[in-house]
Amino acid sequence: MNNDPYRKKETLVLDEFDLSRQQSSIIDAAGEMIATITLDERILFVNHAGRKLLAISQEHNLASEPLYVSDFHTPEVYALLKDHIFPSLIKEREMWQGDIEFKNLNNQTIPVNLSVIPHYDESGKVAWITGIARDLSEQNALEIQQRLAKRVFDNTIEGIFVTDSASKILQVNRAFCEITGYSASEVIGNTPRILQSKHHELSFYEALWQQVNTSGTWQGEIWNRRKDGSVYLQWLSINSLKNKQGDIEYFVAVFHDLSELRAREAQIEFLVNHDPLTELGNRTQFIDRLKYILQSSINVNKKIAVIKIDLGEIQLINDSLGHAFCDRLIQQAAKRLKSIVKGQNLLVRLAADEFGVLVVDIKHAMDISRLVFELKSSLQLPFKIDDENLYMNPSLGIALYPDDANSSDDLLRFARIALQQAKGDGRNTFCFYNPDMSNQARERLLLEQALREAITSNGLSLNFQPKVLLKTGEIFASEVLVRWNHPTLGYISPSVFIPMAERSGLISDLGRWVMNETCRCLAEMKASGLTILPVAINLSVYELESSGFAKHLMDYVNKYHLEPCLFEFEVTETGLISREEMVIESLKKLRNAGFKVALDDFGTGYSSLSYLRKLPLTTLKIDRAFVNDITDDKVAASIVRTVISLTESLSLEVIAEGVETKEQQSILLDMGCSKAQGYFFYKPLSTTDFKKLLKNT
Ligand code: C2E
Ligand code: CA
Ligand code: CA
Repeated sequence: MNNDPYRKKETLVLDEFDLSRQQSSIIDAAGEMIATITLDERILFVNHAGRKLLAISQEHNLASEPLYVSDFHTPEVYALLKDHIFPSLIKEREMWQGDIEFKNLNNQTIPVNLSVIPHYDESGKVAWITGIARDLSEQNALEIQQRLAKRVFDNTIEGIFVTDSASKILQVNRAFCEITGYSASEVIGNTPRILQSKHHELSFYEALWQQVNTSGTWQGEIWNRRKDGSVYLQWLSINSLKNKQGDIEYFVAVFHDLSELRAREAQIEFLVNHDPLTELGNRTQFIDRLKYILQSSINVNKKIAVIKIDLGEIQLINDSLGHAFCDRLIQQAAKRLKSIVKGQNLLVRLAADEFGVLVVDIKHAMDISRLVFELKSSLQLPFKIDDENLYMNPSLGIALYPDDANSSDDLLRFARIALQQAKGDGRNTFCFYNPDMSNQARERLLLEQALREAITSNGLSLNFQPKVLLKTGEIFASEVLVRWNHPTLGYISPSVFIPMAERSGLISDLGRWVMNETCRCLAEMKASGLTILPVAINLSVYELESSGFAKHLMDYVNKYHLEPCLFEFEVTETGLISREEMVIESLKKLRNAGFKVALDDFGTGYSSLSYLRKLPLTTLKIDRAFVNDITDDKVAASIVRTVISLTESLSLEVIAEGVETKEQQSILLDMGCSKAQGYFFYKPLSTTDFKKLLKNT
């Protein structure tokens, strides 16, 4: 057995094994500092990790260059060791453990967990001490980080919840509770399903989890439900956390409530795109939509119409009846239009008194005409506000894609030009754009400028057309007619420039000029010894609107020392009816001032008999269209006859205008009409000619 070579070797190994060397290499391999010190605090040995920690070089020979405990601590910590820890160690004979700080030879402070262990000699006395220190720097940093993370977790305004891999909620933060209304204890242990709203299909959640599982993350908007049942939109981001093996251990979900943000965005969006008064879209929205539709229909065979609607005379209503009244009128108009503009078509308020309609996908031009007619008719019905019946005179202009233009700018511009044309055609009408209109618009603008100049620089003149007794032809009065002879443009008819003056607001200046000039002429005639006859002056209904107009007229009468009974004001039916109440009030003012009032062009407007009774009139003028027809048209004749007998019962004077023939004269006489005006007797005459005529008769 002794010869067994293996056994021999085993014995040899055991014999040669150097225990202390083995121990010291084990000690050197340890990750923690291990050091031994004598009772007089001199360091006998320190392992590799210890040298590193204390910044003692591996070559440093502790035997020849001794180091002491005091070299590795601040005075305070050293005092703690020397005065408390070591004495109690020796006395109590027990190890001590605790967290203290080292200061290494590089003067760095290192937090450590230190164990100090006493060793005894044969006699049982403490002979030397071992210290084992674990570097806490890293751990401390981690703890700080964790504390920080916890604070962020608790204080962030985003809601956060953490689930395990089975989606069981493990942890939620404060914001989570604030946003969802659930307390932590109510949700921990549950799954996030308790937050779900019914806004999403099952497939939405399936896709969401599919993505989290494959890519580890999902982000997006999601509708969830609060504890109180309210549903809110949130921005949610979910991340999965995997362990070292790659298995999902946790899900961390972070979300914030988007509802408030969205509400604000929606509000801003609404303000940007809408008119607050009617809650309709505004110009911005109209243009946006038009552009979008044009882009998306470029290659498609589509027709689009841009309609501009002008309510008519809104400014006048604003001035005379006030803002609030006007606002309600606009709201009512918007409501009516809204009931007509349906489906894909868009109705907006473009400006104060202007609406826009975008009609998409029209099959036939007929469809658009029908719609336009409907829109117009709806606005012509009376508007009832505060017991007042208001009639508007809407005008509509229409431009078509692709017929008229391809761009939104051009379509809007052309619709505007068409609208101007419609207004020029006497309102209550609509116009489709035609290319000649642009030129007309430009011309009209030039003409407006010229008229302005004519009014201020005496470019206008007056004509007097005598009014006669039908039987004898004796002149008893005259009608004043304004004339405009432009130096380069030539003669321009009042039928052209009066409506223009009404549209551009020049009418009141023009009216004052006419009144002043008429009074001046009368005063001149009086001064030259002529008997002055009554005059009739045409008044635009727009002039009636301006406050204090009756007083202004009176001012001229007084200025030239004339009598108000010399003056009759002729107003036409059209225009009157749209603002019945206001007009009646204004006409009463005229009557109260001593002026007479005639209803001009009777029979061409609404001609309601009950309406006639309401107006404070003195005279009725039968329109020349009727006079023209009485010889051939039995209906016209019977209308004129009825009107004449009506004036008798209403105690109104009656006069026929536009009498051109002897035949008309005799028929009118037969019907009981005693006064007339017309080319058959006299054409309108210049002031000079009129004066001459008066002198000779
Ligand atoms: P109106 O008030 O109906 O004036 C009568 C128009 O008929 C005048 O046209 C006159 O020249 C014309 N006339 C007179 N007798 C005959 C006739 O026998 N046959 C025919 N075919 N026509 C006749 P005028 O001067 O061109 O005026 C057109 C309109 O312009 C007037 O219609 C009136 O509404 C308006 N107007 C004229 N002067 C003024 C004015 O000073 N102020 C205002 N606001 N409007 C005016
Ligand atoms: Ca007249
Ligand atoms: Ca007339």
